[in-house]
Amino acid sequence: MKRIYLDYAATTPTHRDVVKAMLPYFSDSFGNPSSIYSYGQESKGAVEKAREQVANLISAHDEEIVFTSGGTEADNFAIKGVAYANPERNHIIISSIEHHAVIETCKFLEKRGFEITYLPVDKDGLVDPDDVRKTITDKTCLISIMHANNEIGTIQPIKKLATIAREAGVYFHTDAVQAAGQIPINVDDVGVDLLSMSAHKLYGPKGVGALYIRKGTRLVPFMHGGSQENDRRGSTENVPGIVGFGKATAIALEAMTGEIERQTRLRDHLITSILEQIDGVRLNGHPTKRLPNNVNVSIDYVEGESMLLNLDLENICASTGSACSSSSLEASHVLLALGLGHEQAHSSLRFTVGKWTTEEDINRVLEVLPKIVARLRAMSPLLKSHK
Ligand SMILES: *Cc1c(COP(=O)(O)O)cnc(C)c1O
Repeated sequence: MKRIYLDYAATTPTHRDVVKAMLPYFSDSFGNPSSIYSYGQESKGAVEKAREQVANLISAHDEEIVFTSGGTEADNFAIKGVAYANPERNHIIISSIEHHAVIETCKFLEKRGFEITYLPVDKDGLVDPDDVRKTITDKTCLISIMHANNEIGTIQPIKKLATIAREAGVYFHTDAVQAAGQIPINVDDVGVDLLSMSAHKLYGPKGVGALYIRKGTRLVPFMHGGSQENDRRGSTENVPGIVGFGKATAIALEAMTGEIERQTRLRDHLITSILEQIDGVRLNGHPTKRLPNNVNVSIDYVEGESMLLNLDLENICASTGSACSSSSLEASHVLLALGLGHEQAHSSLRFTVGKWTTEEDINRVLEVLPKIVARLRAMSPLLKSHK
């Protein structure tokens, strides 16, 4: 049975051309970019070319890109970096649907004297720009609101939010790990000061990412050590990873327009058909302001986890905002923030399509999912108690 991978938001396979670009930098051109001899300079050159490619994806300047070990480190760097560089200000504003990399970083700071505002979102997952405006005080040092949500795909009005921050003289960070490579981003057009990216979400390798830092932004280094990355992040560069990241961004940029159209079509086909074929289904996230690849539904009276296990038996990979998938018993904080009850949050199912998803893959899901739901509902104590 062919495996149908519909969890591209969790991670993507590394593109074969990316792997090919990386290979020479393991055993052949393995020199340390900090070494003076030409061998090291070869690696240095490769890193700088990748920096240009990554910068190009978001229309930034090369020197505004700092490579990190991933999206999580980029988020930590942005938030802690600004928090500790601006000691006279101790207030940070984030949304309540941020990735754990942002939320847990802020909780860490909260225990150390910072004040954190967790902004609510509406039923579709949108932050209200007026809420941001009203929450800013003269103690606010940073606003961090994600570009697109990893669970429900909702795309925030980043330009509006960043403009409010700028007018108030407050730094604006966005976690663009899900948006980068999928939808167009121009950092000057939207006016963000800091932006996080991760390679493995855009067909690059795992363990490498980047933080865009607008020229002139005050933040302290997060990883102390050598003078790599222009004194902003110590540690010998992950040369093959960085090269792969660069190549992946170049491929993403080239394929973007076509992929947006193709994936949106698959997404909408899946959403429309699930809503048609199964009753008691709710679409989570904004109907139109959403990532081209994201489908998230709550299916009444069935548990997300049970659906996942049954889909797995059919060799279909998906995800849920429920229990064990996240190794915790809590329902997704994102779905709860939309106003869903615990039952609805636990009955959520996320499919994220990608570069190699086909129409047949979607049709296969539509063939098996209604049967799985019917079978599970027939056994559901939840459904019985509602009858
Ligand atoms: C995956 C993800 C991260 C974490 O990135 P890593 O490279 O896995 O550390 C952060 N934010 C969002 C929105 C993500 O989807």
